[in-house]
Amino acid sequence: MAEQAVPRPVDLPSDLRHFIDGKPASSVDGATFPVADPVTNEVYGRVAAGDAADIDLAVAAAKRAFTDGPWPRLSARERAKILNKIADGIEVRAERLAELETFDTGLPITQARGQAHRAAENFRYFADVIVALHEEAYIVGDKQVNYAIRQPAGVAGLITPWNTPFMLETWKLAPSLASGCTVILKPAEWSPLSASLLPEIMAEAGVPDGVFNLVHGIGEQAGAALVAHPDVPRISFTGESGTGQIIMRTSAENLKEVSMELGGKSPCVVFADADFDRAVDAAVFGVFSLNGERCTASSRVLVQREIYDRFVEALAARAAAVKVGPPADPATEVGALIHPEHYARVLEYVEIGKREARLVAGGERPAHLTEGNFLQPTVFADVRPDARIFQEEIFGPVVGVTPFDTEEEAIELANATKYGLAGYVWTKDLQRGHRVARAVQSGMVWINSHNVRDLRTPFGGIKASGVGQEGGVHSIDFYSDVRAIHVAVGDLHTPQFGKQA
Ligand code: NAD
Repeated sequence: MAEQAVPRPVDLPSDLRHFIDGKPASSVDGATFPVADPVTNEVYGRVAAGDAADIDLAVAAAKRAFTDGPWPRLSARERAKILNKIADGIEVRAERLAELETFDTGLPITQARGQAHRAAENFRYFADVIVALHEEAYIVGDKQVNYAIRQPAGVAGLITPWNTPFMLETWKLAPSLASGCTVILKPAEWSPLSASLLPEIMAEAGVPDGVFNLVHGIGEQAGAALVAHPDVPRISFTGESGTGQIIMRTSAENLKEVSMELGGKSPCVVFADADFDRAVDAAVFGVFSLNGERCTASSRVLVQREIYDRFVEALAARAAAVKVGPPADPATEVGALIHPEHYARVLEYVEIGKREARLVAGGERPAHLTEGNFLQPTVFADVRPDARIFQEEIFGPVVGVTPFDTEEEAIELANATKYGLAGYVWTKDLQRGHRVARAVQSGMVWINSHNVRDLRTPFGGIKASGVGQEGGVHSIDFYSDVRAIHVAVGDLHTPQFGKQA
């Protein structure tokens, strides 16, 4: 056990409260829930358990800040300055953020550091976007000019999952605030810690009271109340596809606009002519980084028959050599899974996989880590398309490999699940790369690359992986009401009803 003992971060917050109208707040009814770290699974703190009464307070504050406050009326440049200050505030706390995130989620520290920098970049990027926003205008002959305006939609509800929590929270906060909305963030109940730094970051940057509100709580209580609230016209949700369906149903009551970033089971298609070593690197990184708790994980590797055995062997050897260890150790590549419940679910899939396919690496708790939610990186070969481990999102360090013969078969296999988030294609034949990329039904495809994102590009899934796109100007559009204004600049003929000669 000595090897996995983790020192608790100094000054670890143990009483995590809401932040409403510029002030910390307990729940109206005083309720709390416990939160534990994934290495010891010991409770380190209690979190305010919000419900409808707390959401009502937060929505009222956000609505006041939207209706009467300066935020939606600031010029883009003024808002951008504040967003850049938020980014500064994140950067000066980057090490603390990474430390808290690693402790709370089990993410390896080196990867948590990357997330903190990405979080700051989210704010810098959307600060740039709003000052450089291109608006639509149309000239209709010499009679009319039509132009479109974007106005902030109002109070936005932001509901986030437990994987890479701070990065995903800021991925929603940055564009919603940039657009001029006021917001209520509901972080995931298993990873509330890093969000506790947001109130001071926002206050220091000069975000007015009521613009940023944070309500912790259980999804079915705080989250559901936020979704049902009639004064919240936008819900941006990232999480499981099933939860997304529930949220869409509730949102229909108030005809809310929703953005849904959901689950995935993304294929990595490797043709025989691919750069073998780079494809192996990408397949290993794609599924084992972020502990495999990654929506865009390449969890199904489809390999052309000519190189299949060699590829399986290489993947298994690399998986066996991946360093699983304490998340705070800089040498660790795979840390601890978020929660015992999720760990049990992933282990259940490993058992299912042992019945459905051929286990070639992992499949057990690492011998040197006797406690905590640790799993050896696990590789199954000869996975058939009707197998549950081929069809269902496992969300852990588990990958299945399936052989194919032809390009047509590769495409058919790639599209043979309900999901459509990401896809990866490896081939030296660029024409084939483009062809397959277009045929793979997913919101994003990378050719000869692992998941490297430019924030300007659309981000989102199709099929059961999402509704709508975020990223770049797509995010600004989502948090805005887009309206058209038509101006007559010449003598426009109007039919003269009731004025007959
Ligand atoms: P989850 O759906 O269980 O929970 C996500 C959030 O929704 C949490 O904050 C939770 O409290 C809240 N919630 C739960 N029930 C709710 C309800 N009835 N009403 C309102 N809110 C509710 O998901 P999770 O287990 O936290 O996250 C893992 C999932 O997220 C995986 O499926 C993963 O693929 C997906 N994900 C998708 C993306 C993407 O961009 N597509 C990114 C990251 C994670």
